[in-house]
Amino acid sequence: MRVTPWEVEGIVDYEKLTREFGIQPFKDIPNELKDNKLFRRGIIFGHRDYTKILDAIREGRNWAVMSGFMPSGPPHFGHKMTMEEIIWHQKMKGMAFICIADIEAYVVRGLSFDKSKELGLQYIKNMIALGLKEDAYIYYQSACKDVKDLAIKLSNEVNWSELKAIYGFTPETTLSKMFVTVIQAADILQPQLEKFGGPKPTVIPVGADQDPHIRLTRDIAARISIFSFESIRNGLRIRSRKGKKYLDKIEKKLEFEFKRYEEHIDVFGKAEKIEDYIRKLELEFGGPAFILPSSTYHRFIMGLTGGKMSSSKPESVISLLENPSDAERKIMKAITGGRGSAEEQRKLGGLPERCSIFELYKIHLVDNDKTLNEIKNDCKSGKMLCGYCKKMAAEIVKEFLKEHQNKVLEAEKLLKDYTIISNSF
Ligand code: SF4
Repeated sequence: MRVTPWEVEGIVDYEKLTREFGIQPFKDIPNELKDNKLFRRGIIFGHRDYTKILDAIREGRNWAVMSGFMPSGPPHFGHKMTMEEIIWHQKMKGMAFICIADIEAYVVRGLSFDKSKELGLQYIKNMIALGLKEDAYIYYQSACKDVKDLAIKLSNEVNWSELKAIYGFTPETTLSKMFVTVIQAADILQPQLEKFGGPKPTVIPVGADQDPHIRLTRDIAARISIFSFESIRNGLRIRSRKGKKYLDKIEKKLEFEFKRYEEHIDVFGKAEKIEDYIRKLELEFGGPAFILPSSTYHRFIMGLTGGKMSSSKPESVISLLENPSDAERKIMKAITGGRGSAEEQRKLGGLPERCSIFELYKIHLVDNDKTLNEIKNDCKSGKMLCGYCKKMAAEIVKEFLKEHQNKVLEAEKLLKDYTIISNSF
């Protein structure tokens, strides 16, 4: 198994990944998340600090959702999953930020900025067709001065050894590939800039391969901010990363009971209120007061030819722009969890957990859990054979594509209602 932001090889062991990366598994799904089938069905299997988002949702405080797309090919069903995660969080009242990662596409895939602009527009229109609301903030990295300026500031906090440890970079790694890591960190932290209302919990829905970016960004966000917080009994311990002078400064302004020590201040009261208050002071002192970003991790959608669905293997993907009859052809040829013969399958049943078609049902095609369970049971008992099952999936996909592609045409006319930071339009 090899999982990096730019390469996924082998069979992904999610338990191992969770352990090695220190991702927190979603154990008991809170009620707020249960109407989302991706959470409910364990497709989103883990997170970092998602409780911050749940708290913000419950308390009606500001928070954001941010994710991006590297436009290496037309948007497909794998991207649709991330798009729907962003849209769902936007419906839950998160401010939505969407990045078209054209700098990354240029550096990592050698894609020209013009091609990225063209492909990126497809991603935007498809998101609008899937339900993205007008208050989303959409931008191309190359056109976003805020992101580029922030990346330069953040780069001051990162050295080569850290990048090597996180990404496994070698002496041959180019400077541009290293710099892209801080561009990504700036993408993630941009929602917390003053321009967007300042520090706020921000969730980044991503595939597990993107976790190195999250880890790096959380480290940088902590390092570049002035104050750090530790829970203590009845309050918070505040330390300054930028020298004791900032502890002296807050000491003069604190409106809570506190005790000053040489290297820290213990402040007593409701932790959340103290933290909000100290962050406001940090902003007054010119610090960014970043809240460490949260993240959710989804499993990779299985491709129709096995392995991960990837634009680099056209037969493995169903593009959202695909001709419905081509989609049908690919589905009818897909790898399934079926047995060698119809007779064997009737006797032993199929293996839905190893089937690319069942994966489509589970992630995209069937919202109702009862219906999904019926498909699973009919497969496992041998009552349903793969030919029929594929045909049924193909019909749903064709219907979806026809309807969706009409909505994409409509989305073209709606683009003017959206904020899109781009060099081209
Ligand atoms: Fe997959 Fe359907 Fe065949 Fe079961 S019957 S293995 S779910 S295609």
